[in-house]
Amino acid sequence: MIPLAPRAGERSGPALSAALDGRSILLQPIGAFEHHGPHLPLATDALVVEALAEAAVAARPASGVHLLPTLSYGLSSEHLWAPGTVSLSARTLLAVLDDLAASARRAGATRLALLNGHGGNTHLLRVACREARVAHGLHTFLLHASLPPDNGGPPTDPREEGLGIHGGLGETSVLLHLRPDLVDLTLAERSIPSFVHDYPHLGFDGAGEFAWCSNDLTPSGVVGDPTLATPEAGKERFEAAVAEVVAALDEIGRFHFPHEPPP
Ligand SMILES: [Zn+2]
Repeated sequence: MIPLAPRAGERSGPALSAALDGRSILLQPIGAFEHHGPHLPLATDALVVEALAEAAVAARPASGVHLLPTLSYGLSSEHLWAPGTVSLSARTLLAVLDDLAASARRAGATRLALLNGHGGNTHLLRVACREARVAHGLHTFLLHASLPPDNGGPPTDPREEGLGIHGGLGETSVLLHLRPDLVDLTLAERSIPSFVHDYPHLGFDGAGEFAWCSNDLTPSGVVGDPTLATPEAGKERFEAAVAEVVAALDEIGRFHFPHEPPP
């Protein structure tokens, strides 16, 4: 017998449909195609989120998680000033995610989890999850490869003044672990928007916020210090993210609201 492929696209429609039950999860990785400075590839977020999804599914082969193909474009309007960036508009991405949710529902799925690899997608994905719950009755979930401080995550390394959100130590280290052939550290430069500290109530973790494009923050559009990156730090960060996603998927499989019966 052919073993069940965790990649949904490698199975027939009837086989996928037959495999879906009340605990099954459709897992949709979402990346971006955007400028990450001169030292990292445009597809950084998509590469990382796909590797994370594959590793998480491989860690629990019989968990009922069905991996959808990575959505390699995201909402990257903050990097559109930089050549090479390709962004969907917020309206388009919301429409794509609504179509995805409708199709998931039609296939018989009840649980859809978005695995996000790009901080600029986060706010819109939260809205999309709520909208899909209301419009299609799905249980929807949002998971993060790593939640950056500008989206409510913890501050980054103190050597980056807690501001390493894009192409810095963390992201560059993960790429050095996953795809060192795509990283050119000779082009890496420290780029920290220290001016943010002048506005403690409007900063990345303040009660107020300001909208920004990446070249508002630093001339290169990198926000962090990639010169500190190492493959060892990347391995540690990646493996921690896999463990986090695996644990979250376990909870998603059994999640139900108090007014619903357990799946
Ligand atoms: Zn990125």
